[in-house]
Amino acid sequence: MAKTPITVAHGDGIGPEIMDATLKIIQAAGAELELETIEIGEKVYLSGNSTGIAPESWESLKRTKVFLKAPITTPQGSGYQSLNVATRKMFGLYANVRPCVSYHPFIRTKHTIMDTVIIRENEEDLYAGIEYRQSRQVTQALKIISRPGTEKIVRYAFEFATNNKRKKVTCFVKDNIMKITDGMFHKIFNEIGEEYPDLEKEVWIVDIGAAKLATTPEQFDVIVMENLYGDILSDVTAQMTGSVGLAGSANIGEEFAMFEAIHGSAPKRAGQNSANPSGLLLGAVMMLVHIGQPEIAAKVHNAWLKTLEDGIHTYDVNDEVHHTTPVGTKEFAQAVIERIGQKPSTFKVIEYSSNPSHRVDSVTEKKQAEERKDLVGVDVFLDWSSGKPADLGNMLNRIESENLKLITISNRGVNVFPDGSPYINCVDQYRCRFMNPEKGGVITHNDIINLLVKIRETGFDFIKMENLYNFDGSAGFSQ
Ligand code: NAD
Repeated sequence: MAKTPITVAHGDGIGPEIMDATLKIIQAAGAELELETIEIGEKVYLSGNSTGIAPESWESLKRTKVFLKAPITTPQGSGYQSLNVATRKMFGLYANVRPCVSYHPFIRTKHTIMDTVIIRENEEDLYAGIEYRQSRQVTQALKIISRPGTEKIVRYAFEFATNNKRKKVTCFVKDNIMKITDGMFHKIFNEIGEEYPDLEKEVWIVDIGAAKLATTPEQFDVIVMENLYGDILSDVTAQMTGSVGLAGSANIGEEFAMFEAIHGSAPKRAGQNSANPSGLLLGAVMMLVHIGQPEIAAKVHNAWLKTLEDGIHTYDVNDEVHHTTPVGTKEFAQAVIERIGQKPSTFKVIEYSSNPSHRVDSVTEKKQAEERKDLVGVDVFLDWSSGKPADLGNMLNRIESENLKLITISNRGVNVFPDGSPYINCVDQYRCRFMNPEKGGVITHNDIINLLVKIRETGFDFIKMENLYNFDGSAGFSQ
């Protein structure tokens, strides 16, 4: 078999130890790899590179398109960009796949039946990293959810479920509050779900969904979520299996892929030969499937399961019930190597096919009918704290502008003018909505420019404006 080039980074903290263990195991199983090693993380950050990765290392990644990455330590303080977020964005790694499996009775967990895969959207949401301080009192982060981004991740989840013979796909959203962003995610889940009649589908509001996941994980199979919910809940779910050190993750793009453990660099454990290499090892198993070495992947996975069955555990998953003595990282790796070729007797034997089960080729966008888009108003945000909302309303009502008239003023999303409750605690950022008084009447960009000039001439500090559009006659903005 020809060797597949991959880029490897040993990372920080426990990273080098768990990477050594992982590479030893997969190479002993016969993985055909040509390793290109790059330096990332703390040392690179502290050498003055704010991205944590040197330009020549990007070249290696562009060449191999496959990255096996140990966790890194991001130094405290501002000025350091997240290497993980940068890599996901740079290579379009839109899907983060995190299988969370319970290994009862060999690993102690409150949840004896659990085999859930969290599929987290990886490129959008609050992770776009667009934040502002707009006034002395108010900061803001933008949550971006796009139709193409959502279609891609939702289709990926359904394809993943089909390829892996899963039965159900669940979607977690918060569309009772975020009706436009999460509402679109929910709508697209329903639309695409119709193309998969053999799969069961369900949608939960993320708060109660998370509560159910934490108490009855056996109800869940594949769960697809936006970036932030997926980030939080995949750590929770991995920890529920017994240790965060057990879960691996795949970050999948159309051309590139990155494989890692879901946990961090655990600096306090570094250099003690105690860390559990399982998360990174299972990440490497997903990588072997991805690069077309499924038999090797299965050999490694089965040897690892047999090692757990034989009671050979690292400290984090060790317990007195099984009367085992925890072994170190190196000894654990050696035990897995000794079991290569063996199969588990209690756990189901793993088989991987040459059709990579986590890989979805060409996620195509659904063709949308072109909607009519009409500009119907503008929200102007002001930094203002010189009186009561009614004072502001009366001043803005005096501004005469063709086609645009003040409709409402809100503060932190609550209407304060006209007829606002006197008990509302206002901060120094007001959203002032101007629309064409003629119902459904359209306006022009010049109407907005003229309005802004008058607002400025009246002495106000406008800090942001947001156009209001109707799409095929329906409001594209919160009411
Ligand atoms: P962490 O995941 O490193 O550690 C959390 C806890 O889990 C610790 O108690 C640790 O001992 C335990 N733990 C984690 N992995 C383990 C393993 N393999 N075996 C045994 N125990 C394990 O989270 P943290 O302490 O919040 O973060 C430490 C550093 O890691 C930070 O600098 C953070 O930015 C970074 N981090 C990196 C990544 C990544 O590179 N993908 C992800 C998360 C955090």
